[in-house]
Amino acid sequence: MVNVPKSHPRYVSLTIRERLVEAFKKGIVVPEGLMAHGRGEALDYIIGEATHEPARKAVRAAAALMLLSKRPVISVNGNTAALVGRELAELGRELNAPLEVNLFYWSRERVEKIGELLRSYGAGEVLLPTDDAEEIPGLESSRRLVSRRGIYTADVVFVPLEDGDRTEKLVRMGKKVIAVDLNPLSRTSRAATVTIVDNVVRALPELIRVVRELRPLSPQELRETLDRFDNERNLRESIAIIAQRLELLAAYEEPLGD
Ligand code: ATP
Ligand code: MG
Repeated sequence: MVNVPKSHPRYVSLTIRERLVEAFKKGIVVPEGLMAHGRGEALDYIIGEATHEPARKAVRAAAALMLLSKRPVISVNGNTAALVGRELAELGRELNAPLEVNLFYWSRERVEKIGELLRSYGAGEVLLPTDDAEEIPGLESSRRLVSRRGIYTADVVFVPLEDGDRTEKLVRMGKKVIAVDLNPLSRTSRAATVTIVDNVVRALPELIRVVRELRPLSPQELRETLDRFDNERNLRESIAIIAQRLELLAAYEEPLGD
């Protein structure tokens, strides 16, 4: 692994890239996943690699939804296993929710490797799409393959880094979907019940913290927290943050660059 000096202005971003490259070499991440990350980090650059207020509100709504859920399931792909595998395992234990491997670029070998990695992080139940395989209706990609005990029968599915197609189909199956996506314009962001516009690397620790914070609330208080949240309004707030940051830079009100 390349040693990125801590003093480098892009230290965090470069370290994240290194983690993905290492996971790519181990067969956890696919080349397409590296490119998907590139699109995400461009947006992260614009928002200043920081968690903003809309993301904080979405995290609260997501935590409330998860705590109200009877059958929450956490969907894991290559990039999320590489970047936040440990935190996903922790969230699963906190919610008593299974983790389920779900891949767009499918191979049995990669499914099993990701499952093993999650178990090495101390995950509770880890489901593979080959366990009691079912299909999400109307979906052609291999993301359609899900476990009957997991995503197929879940009421709430947490899908950090999802593809828009499956988000739409999961919602059509009557499920509530929580997504993490740095792009507030993506189909995933628009289709999900709650979208956290933030980097998964920052969103996961925050989500675990807020789940613990909200746990003592009554179901009614949790429902009120959730009802106050409007995903479309929240996405527009995230878009406004991007616009404001660019306007400040254009108007000489902030120094250019990092
Ligand atoms: P959609 O399928 O929802 O229409 P898309 O096809 O534009 O979106 P995908 O290729 O499916 O996008 O996924 C890439 C997206 O994942 C990026 O645009 C980015 O927003 C998001 N993403 C990538 N890495 C991260 C990350 N570390 N944290 C949060 N979001 C990320
Ligand atoms: Mg897509």
